Amino acid sequence: MRLGRAGLLLAAAVLASAAQFSVLAGPLSAHGKVKVGWHPAQVRVGDVAWLEIHGVPESAVLEGSLGGRPLSFFPYAGGRAALVGLDLETKPGIQPWRLAIMTHADPPQTVEGRLKILKRDFQVQRLTLPTKMVDLDPETERRAVAEADQLRTLYRTVTPERFWRGRFTRPVGGTEPGTGFGARRVINGHPKAPHTGIDFGAAPGTPVVAVNDGRVALVADFFFPGRLVVIDHGLGLYTLYFHLQEAKVTDGERVSRGQPIGTVGATGRATGPHLHFGAHVGAARIDPATLFELTVAD
Ligand SMILES: [Zn+2]
Repeated sequence: MRLGRAGLLLAAAVLASAAQFSVLAGPLSAHGKVKVGWHPAQVRVGDVAWLEIHGVPESAVLEGSLGGRPLSFFPYAGGRAALVGLDLETKPGIQPWRLAIMTHADPPQTVEGRLKILKRDFQVQRLTLPTKMVDLDPETERRAVAEADQLRTLYRTVTPERFWRGRFTRPVGGTEPGTGFGARRVINGHPKAPHTGIDFGAAPGTPVVAVNDGRVALVADFFFPGRLVVIDHGLGLYTLYFHLQEAKVTDGERVSRGQPIGTVGATGRATGPHLHFGAHVGAARIDPATLFELTVAD
């Protein structure tokens, strides 16, 4: 049984009726023995984690949140599961999670608990870039802001269907880990927004592949990201591939894990040829390398 596996934190579910706020510890109600497991047992700022829920009636509608951010559930191993993104600017410490279980027959129930999020230290990167890539003229500034808004809106859009399955593969060949997630950037001496993805150094023209099944949500040429592809994996998970020399897919196209979607380049604001690879879960900016460690089995 999954919940008995070593390394899994089995959170003792605390059940309370939706009608009352007092927390009832101990025996679970007749609605079933709701069990909640977090993977991995220890989560850090910037991680993607997932939770697994058992003991909820199959017909029940489930809603959940962590730290106020909604979760998107999918059927899993006879129960439910959801990916959880811990944004790179999440405050470490305790965050409350909450599930609401709604069935036709019974009054709604809430199950609540707390998740400890460990801190993570991020490096500071000092970069020198040509001033024209840093001090933007008003028109370019407006363009960059509009493009960032378009991306943010996209990442907040939750497609109700789950496209991804099983393991996530690397977006480029080789074994070198991607670098720079969460780096606090100082460009030409001025502090800038943190680096929200990882960078893979690679020769121009190196194939870039989809890390899992999905649907191409955007192919575009933007000022900072350059030529880019965004893949929607469903249920709020997006992966992004920036600075491409060439994109080999089109908007709306279905892609499968390992399928070439473009080639490495140095378009947009890039100091040299590399792939910038990012991932968002429920609009949380996560370390995409933690996707490769996900233990969801199907
Ligand atoms: Zn990057």
